[in-house]
Amino acid sequence: MFVQGLKCLFCETVYPVRVGYTCPRCGIVGILDVQYDYARIGRILTRRRLAARSDQSHWRYRELLPIGSNAALPALSVGGTPLTSTPALARHVGLAKLFLKDDGRNATGSLKDRASSVGVVKAREKRRPIIACASTGNAASSCAGMAASMGLKSVIFVPERAPEPKVTQLLIFGATVLRVRGSYEDAFQLCQRSCGKWGWYNRNSGINPYLVEGKKTAGLEIGEQLAWEPTDWVAVSVGDGCTVAGVWKGFRELKALGLIPRTPRILGVQAEGAAPVTAAFLSGEPMRPIEPATLADSIAVGVPRNWKRAVLAVRESGGAMINVSDGEILEAMRYTGRLSGIFAEPAAATAVAGLQRAVAEGCVGRRASAVALITGNGLKDVQSARAAAGQPYDIAPDGAALEEILRERKLIE
Ligand SMILES: *Cc1c(COP(=O)(O)O)cnc(C)c1O
Repeated sequence: MFVQGLKCLFCETVYPVRVGYTCPRCGIVGILDVQYDYARIGRILTRRRLAARSDQSHWRYRELLPIGSNAALPALSVGGTPLTSTPALARHVGLAKLFLKDDGRNATGSLKDRASSVGVVKAREKRRPIIACASTGNAASSCAGMAASMGLKSVIFVPERAPEPKVTQLLIFGATVLRVRGSYEDAFQLCQRSCGKWGWYNRNSGINPYLVEGKKTAGLEIGEQLAWEPTDWVAVSVGDGCTVAGVWKGFRELKALGLIPRTPRILGVQAEGAAPVTAAFLSGEPMRPIEPATLADSIAVGVPRNWKRAVLAVRESGGAMINVSDGEILEAMRYTGRLSGIFAEPAAATAVAGLQRAVAEGCVGRRASAVALITGNGLKDVQSARAAAGQPYDIAPDGAALEEILRERKLIE
């Protein structure tokens, strides 16, 4: 392992890896960041060595992950998701070049698999047979799926409003599913207490320092897939803030290792009704909790734990934060599907909607290139998708109205 220690993002104390989940001095706000020996890693992870590796999963960057070289890994495949050039979508949002990184193609359908896969490896390493998580959906289904793949048991706390498809995934993966009558925050607090009481491994990205390490592999992959020439911008939707901070850490590491000449700017995008991180970014003040109101359930976080990590990341990248409305999110789901063939869940389409707005407001230039990170698959929340997609034409079996419809759709003259 190349891990040197864990550094508190608040008081900046560096601890040995044996410390608990958060900073012993700062408590739950003392989020810890994993520190590596980049000089040693740089001698191993060269462009040529990486090109010669046949493993396409995110474990190809194992030197940059907090896992032992002989650690048992889940059998499910994580990472290595496609980066697709989407010229028609680029024209629509007003950019010179746009790529979608489709992380809906991970084992359980979201980017969270990158984090959960590291979580279950750590749980096994610490000999904990049960892993627990509180989540609005994707972290939960991903945690349950990875636990099943690894032979661990999972206990999952979800808020009342978690979408049915995600809850169904949990049940299929054999998790003990506790639907908490309350908000995500209520579910989070109950999970925290339960982990403390029964000694379960805690997969909450708000406090577990290792999960962001898994998420950063999305940034590492984007760098490598673009032949080490990153786009000008990378757009990432923000709920808790762990994902955007992880993606940025990936790029910062690629730069530190001399693998890329420059880093992209990060565009962090929140939903208007759940935007405490954008508010903190713009004001420079500490984050103020809010009552979230957005249909993008995966980013409906009122008390983001990683807000500071997110704000520092976007700022360090020279990037920006922007908010979009639920209307813009639904619209982005529709035009992204129509113009690229990629089906994004609301929180994922948020990144595309953010780029469109950033271009319209002049924050991102029209000659710029960008990647939008598609963090979750659209089938994860069919109800929202149907609100975006509209209705099919109901026709009689004799096809009476068929020609009229085809003419209306301009499919025939
Ligand atoms: C979790 C999630 C996000 C946001 O990640 P945070 O770490 O909470 O900021 C965005 N989109 C999808 C689909 C997610 O599941």
